[in-house]
Amino acid sequence: MRLQLATWPQVDAYLAHCKSAILPIGSTEQHGPTGLIGTDALCAEAIAHRVGDMLGVMVAPTIAVGMAQHHMEFPGSMTLRPSTLMAVVRDCLLSLVRHGFRRVLLVNGHGGNAATVHAAFAETQMELDALSPRPELHTRLINWWEMPEIDRLSAELYGNSVGAHATPPELALTWALHPETADNRVLEPRLAPRGSFHGAADFRARFPDGRIGSDPSLATPAHGERMLETAAAEIARVAEGFFAVE
Ligand SMILES: [Zn+2]
Repeated sequence: MRLQLATWPQVDAYLAHCKSAILPIGSTEQHGPTGLIGTDALCAEAIAHRVGDMLGVMVAPTIAVGMAQHHMEFPGSMTLRPSTLMAVVRDCLLSLVRHGFRRVLLVNGHGGNAATVHAAFAETQMELDALSPRPELHTRLINWWEMPEIDRLSAELYGNSVGAHATPPELALTWALHPETADNRVLEPRLAPRGSFHGAADFRARFPDGRIGSDPSLATPAHGERMLETAAAEIARVAEGFFAVE
């Protein structure tokens, strides 16, 4: 069930029996020489749609640009500053609350969004505190790649070649969605360097091709289908509990 494909009377009817929504959030940023710029948004959206179909829950439009300041030395990357992203998330939540949504699950595709999204949750609650009567709102963020079943599947398929950015699980998932973009040539070095960084220029200097610790040549579209199915099943289980909150 997608908000964008519903009419307002359909949303009205939905809200009469269900107050839950899923909001996918991703990023538009480089994912190494073989990964799609839209990886984080594409993954979050596909998983959110699958979960929405499984639970019959409305899925809002994807927030496709996130906080990707550290990727800005690579062509094509786009970023919102944290304060902008916080305002976008807050305003999306307040829009949903105004119509009667009371539980909103954010399915996240990008680690760099997490701190800002949690700040946006607090900002939104403070704004609701000023209203009388105060609408109730439950929010939760789930990072799909951190789900235990995804960890297990990633370890089974890729061992210690998962890495931290432009990883085979996320590239595989996008290649399942868009098989014509699959590019699993072996990169040099095969396993990208690991480590931390500060800021965009330092990121590019330490990780010249954009990957961190990963070997995405191991990914296949068939793996991506398994990732999508596994992530959706596990997140649906968690979401069911969350949506049942009184
Ligand atoms: Zn990513």
